[in-house]
Amino acid sequence: MDIKAHIRGIPDFPKPGILFYDISTLLRHGPAWRAAMARLARAIRPHKPDLLAGIESRGFLVAAPLALELGLGFIMLRKPRKLPGLTIGLNYALEYGTDRIEMQADAVQKGQRVILLDDLLATGGTMAAGISLLRQAGAVVPCAAALIELTFLGGRNRIDVPFESLVAYD
Ligand code: IMP
Repeated sequence: MDIKAHIRGIPDFPKPGILFYDISTLLRHGPAWRAAMARLARAIRPHKPDLLAGIESRGFLVAAPLALELGLGFIMLRKPRKLPGLTIGLNYALEYGTDRIEMQADAVQKGQRVILLDDLLATGGTMAAGISLLRQAGAVVPCAAALIELTFLGGRNRIDVPFESLVAYD
């Protein structure tokens, strides 16, 4: 199955000059989506996760089916003020401005191996922030993974764990 053939690039979204890689066409195609999840499951299984984590919102679409496939639980890293109960959060820098992600303070037990997932790795800032937050919660992060990697932005150099992806654009 050619996963890349099911991902499209949409020019000038969300801003002029940006080529946005859209996974909607992959999600819409049952066999291709299933193949993508099976491949990503094979890539992350050797890192022996106890739990998977997804970054809002497309990261949820990746982490939840993988958690089912691997028989593991799944936790959410969300935008501010979305999660009930006691939360911890981390502010991180964007190209223009800052953003913040949060998780429930009791989501992880100390020393649990948590793999972080998103749809796409660009500069790596989001993934790096997610890894830091999981560590703050007590997790060990053996690996991070995404469907797509924009290799020309060098995102994997910003994260200090092994990184797995299925489709690369350079
Ligand atoms: P980074 O922090 O620069 O690595 O950006 C990655 C985050 O931005 C991820 O959460 C992605 O969902 C989102 N993102 C950036 N570019 C794209 C794109 O072309 N398609 C889909 N999501 C993108």
